[in-house]
Order: sequence, then structure tokens, then C-alpha cells
Amino acid sequence: MAYRDRTVASISGEDIGREVVLAGWVARRRDHGGVAFFDIRDFSGLAQLVVHDEELANQLRIESCVSVTGVVKTRPAGSENTKIPTGAVEVWVTGVQRLSDAKTLPFVLDEHVNVNEETRLRYRYLDLRRPEGPASALRLRSRLNQLTRNHLLAEGFTEIETPTMTRSTPEGARDFLVPARLHPGSWYALPQSPQLFKQLLMVAGFDKYFQIARCYRDEDFRADRQPEFTQLDIEMSFVVAEDVMNMAEKLITMLWRELIGVTIEPIPRITYQDAMSRFGSDKPDMRFGLELIDLTEFFSQTPFRVFQAEYVGAIVMPGGAAQPRRAFDAWQDWAKERGAPGLAWVTVEEGALSGPVAKNISEAERDGLAAAVGANDGDAIFFAAGEPRSARALLGAARVEVGHRLGLINESEWKFIWVVDAPMFEPVSDEVVALEVSAKNKTPTWAAAHHPFTAPQAEWVSDFDVDPAKALASAYDLVVNGSEIGGGSIRIHDSSVQTRVFEVLGVGREQAKEKFGFLLDALEFGPPPHGGIAFGWDRIAMLLTASKSLRDVIAFPKTGGGFDPLTGAPNPISERQRKEAGVDAKPRAN
Ligand code: ASP
Repeated sequence: MAYRDRTVASISGEDIGREVVLAGWVARRRDHGGVAFFDIRDFSGLAQLVVHDEELANQLRIESCVSVTGVVKTRPAGSENTKIPTGAVEVWVTGVQRLSDAKTLPFVLDEHVNVNEETRLRYRYLDLRRPEGPASALRLRSRLNQLTRNHLLAEGFTEIETPTMTRSTPEGARDFLVPARLHPGSWYALPQSPQLFKQLLMVAGFDKYFQIARCYRDEDFRADRQPEFTQLDIEMSFVVAEDVMNMAEKLITMLWRELIGVTIEPIPRITYQDAMSRFGSDKPDMRFGLELIDLTEFFSQTPFRVFQAEYVGAIVMPGGAAQPRRAFDAWQDWAKERGAPGLAWVTVEEGALSGPVAKNISEAERDGLAAAVGANDGDAIFFAAGEPRSARALLGAARVEVGHRLGLINESEWKFIWVVDAPMFEPVSDEVVALEVSAKNKTPTWAAAHHPFTAPQAEWVSDFDVDPAKALASAYDLVVNGSEIGGGSIRIHDSSVQTRVFEVLGVGREQAKEKFGFLLDALEFGPPPHGGIAFGWDRIAMLLTASKSLRDVIAFPKTGGGFDPLTGAPNPISERQRKEAGVDAKPRAN
């Protein structure tokens, strides 16, 4: 006997009187006066089973896997379930084949009880058994991949797989390393991106490449980050930035239309500088205003020590004066969690300022402040002062927080923006990792803001190393609703420029040859001008499915700290594996 002759959700009013065979899992039991009602569930949905025979009913144990034979009937008037597609019919069971039994599950699947995430992930295969939630997100993700492949193939791209055991491909994170048993003391790195290989494919003449690529970055724990993640990776030859952005926009517009029926208007652009000064972020959320106001000039003569700074800025919280004192205290804690000493504030009430800052500034400043920031009676003004980058970042975060608290963000809106004209370099700091150099070099001053293979803008080619702080990159980032979903650049296709960039990053000629000789060599053999982009595929899947976390769009995700609750990885290895893998071996001297 066949396990099934149709899927569960395919039965309908057209099947009345017909015998059907369904296979799936037993979902729920209700007993009513000698009749037992069950749900049967498969990937397609649910259907109601009606069992009059107690012996048959006892075969149907919750979450066991069964094949049932029965006759489709109309549900009695009044007992239809309009919430499910099969809700007008039910199957009167005549036979049950038990395919496998299930122990009592660690959590109930079909009732919306809160189950802690660690348990759900430990038994992810049960979690995914219910068709909604992460399982439906994974189905949409499969369509996302298919639409993308069809689109790019039609546009003349070639899909190519690149290695995942390789040398370091620096993207600003640490590498995951794999010991090479056959070369004791030597290690592969897992790619942080396919960056170098896709560039080599352009040197090879492939012209347009894409890959749905797994990437690996060993970064410190941050909420909702996965150590391995997926990018849609793209590279094109004979292009300028405009060409790549147009291609990307066409793709994204198609995906939003096909998958969620949303029309994306032509995507506006903002320079990195403007994004930072107006929104305090390189990924501005454009769904609301509340822009940062630069008060450096306004406070240039201030007696208030805190505001005698390289940068003073503010944002206005409309109606914020009504917050009780303890709310302002809570803002201080909020700022401290972000590493700032606090968040200075004043309120505007009946034309006068109050709050701790008000006493410290001059009378003229007190008189002019509300007008300078455009604040009205009843508003609060928050300030940040100091080093411009971090002060703006704090105000940018406060802006988003205020936007949420005041309900200024329309959650159903999609606001895309390209951020262009980013700097080539940024100073190395606690958060910005330098390109790794050998111990004898001192820590480099500069790191690549995008990655070390990004070309300077044409007017910076001759001088980027003279003034690295100001040099602009030929790079572009695609941002939606405050998250970065893609980023790319035009690449360096001249080995002497590449060597100079390495020098700014603290990698001398010898080391560059040692680490990236294969790239520098390739750039000596007629490389075409080329550029590309990579999209954060997990994030895009998360946005398109309105999921709350990246974990919801990944079949077997890791939790914080890169732990996999299902397999228990990472796990200690045995002494023997340690020896065989050569974990402790010293590299052979050349
Ligand atoms: N490889 C880059 C990244 O992973 C993307 C690109 O420049 O195409 O961010």
C-alpha cells in the first residue's frame, strides 16, 4: 500500500465521498461523546480526522508518524474551521498504518505556548515540523534563491562555487582555522567572503559571477549574529559603481515585488558624510526625521566645559519634557550601556530651559538654544559632545530609540537608501581590527573601511596614501530601514595601487607578497576593471519573512557565542584527533 496518494492540505470539497490516503504526523486529539477528532499534519498543512473506532483511535498517538485511509466528508454545519484551507471537510478514518512512534515531545507543537529558544533549537527538527514560523521562512528562502538564480542567469551571470578551505580573505574579522593534517603546523582559513576568488574569476574572463556563498567570521558575541552566514555574492567586469548599483537595484526590486508584492521606488543616495552628520549612522533609518543638529559652532564660546569639544550635537525629542526625572536617569544608563559617560539633556518649558545642562551654559546660549535646534515648548533636547565619530554615533542611537518610543516608525514601510562616498580607511581601534601583520611590525594606524581590495575614487588614486584620513573609496552600501543589506565596491585592478593600499594598512611589500602574492600576481596579468557587491542573504530572508531574528531563517542556527544546541558543537576533541590534526604542531621551517 502506498504511504499516501495526496498531500494533507490538498483535500477539499471536491473530494467529498472519495477515499484518500494521507501521511503525516498526528497533531491533536479531542474526544467528543465516543468520537475522537485528530489533526493530521504534513508540510502542506492540517486536516481533521474523525475516528469512530476506539481501537483505531488508539493507534493515532500524538506526533507519531502515520499513514491513514479514510473517506472525505463535509463537516457538519457550524463546525467548519475557516482558518485552514481544509476547514470545510474532514476525513472519516477507516484504516491506520503506524509508520513510527514518537515519545512525548519536549514541547507541544501546535499550541502557542512559549518554549525557550534553546530547547526549540536543541530539537530543531521538531520545531520545524510545524509549517508556520521558521519552517515557512525556510520555504520562502528557497523561493528567494530560485528567483535570484533565474534572474541573474537571465542577466548573463555564471554561478560558480569557490573554496571554503583557503587562505585568509580579510573582511575585518578573525578567521576560523582548520588544521591541515597533511601539513602539520599549517592551517586553512575558512573564507570571510569569496572576495579574492571572485576577483580572480574576473581576471579569468568570466565577466559576471554570482554565488550563494557561505562565509565565516569569528567575531565577538553580538546579539543576532551567526559565525557562519550566507551572502549573495556578485562580481562584474568592465563596470563602474553605477553599473553595479543599477544591477543590484533591479534585483532587489524584483525580489520585493515577487515575494511580498512591494514596489520599490528608485533608491535615493546619501553620502557617508551626510549620513553620519545628519543621522549619526552609516546605515540611517529613513522612515522618520529627528535629524542630528550640529551645535559645535553655537557652543564655540561656551563656558560649559563638557561642550568645549571638537563636536557638540543634539537631537530633539518632541514632547520629551513630560518624561519624569527617573526617565532621564534611565537615559543615562542607556547611554552608559553604549560606552558613553551619559546623555546631557534639557527640557523646554514655557520658553525656558531646565535640566542640569541649562545651569551650565551662558545666558545667550540659554536664550538661543531652542530656536537653534527647532525645539518647542514641551520638548526635550539631548546632547552629545566630544570626538565627532562617537558623539554622533550616540546621538544616532538616541534618535532611533526616540523614534521607536514615540512610535514615529511605520513598521510596514520600506525605506531603501544607498550610502556612497565612504572613506577608504578608518583608524584602528578596539572595534576596528587591523589587518594582521607579523609581530615585528607595530600595530597599524589604519584599517580598510570596506576591505583592502576596494579602489580609491579616481581623484584619490594619486594621494590616498598621503592623506588616508580623507581618501574616499569607490564603495556603496545598500541600507533598508536602518539595516545594511548589501555592500560592495569597485576593486583595485592595478598591482601598484594594491601594494600602496597594503602599505597604508601596515603591510609591507614582503608581507604583502607572502600573504596576497597570488592576488598581486594575478593583477599583473591583464585584469579587467571590475567591481561587485555582496548581500547579507540571511538578513534579506529575515526582512522578507518579517522574522524577528536571523535564527528564524536558518535551518540549524547557532545561539550566542556560536554554540549549536542541537549537535553540541563546538566540542573538545580527543587526544588522538589532536595529534592527527596537528593542532599543536609547529610549522616546518622552510
Ligand atoms: N566581500 C565584500 C563583503 O563581504 C562584499 C564585496 O565587496 O563585494 O562585504
